[in-house]
Amino acid sequence: MQSLIGLTTEELAALSAELGEPRFRGKQISTWIYKRAAVSVEVMNDLPSGFRNKLIQSYEIGLPIAAHRDVAPDETVKYLMKLADGQQVESVYLPYAERVSVCLSSQIGCAAGCRFCATAQGGLARNLTAGEIVGQLLRMQWDNPRRISHAVYMGMGEPLWNYNALIKSLRIIGSEVGISIRNLTVSTVGVVPGILALASEDLPITLALSLHAPDDDLRAELIPTARKWKLDEILDACSEYSRKTGRNLTFEYLMLGGINDRPDQARALANLLKKKKLPGNVNLIPFNYVETEQGFKRPEKNAITLFREELENAGRVTTQRMVRGHGISAACGQLRRTIEKSRSEGILQTIPLNAARN
Ligand code: SAH
Repeated sequence: MQSLIGLTTEELAALSAELGEPRFRGKQISTWIYKRAAVSVEVMNDLPSGFRNKLIQSYEIGLPIAAHRDVAPDETVKYLMKLADGQQVESVYLPYAERVSVCLSSQIGCAAGCRFCATAQGGLARNLTAGEIVGQLLRMQWDNPRRISHAVYMGMGEPLWNYNALIKSLRIIGSEVGISIRNLTVSTVGVVPGILALASEDLPITLALSLHAPDDDLRAELIPTARKWKLDEILDACSEYSRKTGRNLTFEYLMLGGINDRPDQARALANLLKKKKLPGNVNLIPFNYVETEQGFKRPEKNAITLFREELENAGRVTTQRMVRGHGISAACGQLRRTIEKSRSEGILQTIPLNAARN
């Protein structure tokens, strides 16, 4: 069975023509899929039944199944989505007072090897298709009453190592689902060719760079694959991105107690960004606990405040990531690991949610 999610209106029009129908049927199908988050072809009641029958012989909508769902007291919902081949990825629904954001995965697992990250510990299984990326958003839209207005690619995987599917998914979320491209953020470990390619796409998304260290040596210890590109090159690529798109960047800085949270490191970070004349905020992310070989821990509250003050004194707008989803394994890759571990130990039985509706 082939999935319809992931096809553009244009591609759906071509498919309709192939099946002997007028091209405008493509628009009808895309409205059902992307605007109404339909779960099956059967509900598309403005299509002739003969056409629907033909479609379902080879096609399905392809919405992922919410195999597991954890709701935090702040209403953050963490999903484990089951894909057609049985693989599972994490996605998060984040309702705020003024907007609703979702966090999407771009790969199953990840090859970046970041020492502090739960996803990295299992390595990379495979890339997601554009349809599987968009499908996560559609499943969450279907499952929740408020309209999704923002999406961040900060779930499992390195989006720029799955470049073609990433670009296609961004275009579909923008043009078909109808979320403003400006409300989409792609987070990267710093894949230089990907950043440069993205700069030429005419897609005014926000680029977020996972910086996490003010110098190459420490960065390479935390992000082994980062050795491939020096900070100098990465930041030059970011400059190019900002110059070509006119968009600001976000610099993410994961804070690990006693490792990268000293005031002198904050000053070095501020100087580095200033030297490169890079516009953009720094977003401090206190470490979400993951069991690691290094035994990383969250910095003291005081250290975070001092770090922030150093950056602000140097003129850098600094934000701190709100802690969301406490108690529901909110860190990237944590939920999948927790569930796999407890399953293998026979503790937890996952009940498919909305089993009747899936
Ligand atoms: N590969 C991309 C996007 C996925 S990770 C990237 O590296 O940017 C999204 C963000 O979560 C990154 O900034 C990553 O460093 C951060 N992250 C990973 N593990 C974390 C943890 N245990 N606590 C807090 N942030 C974490």
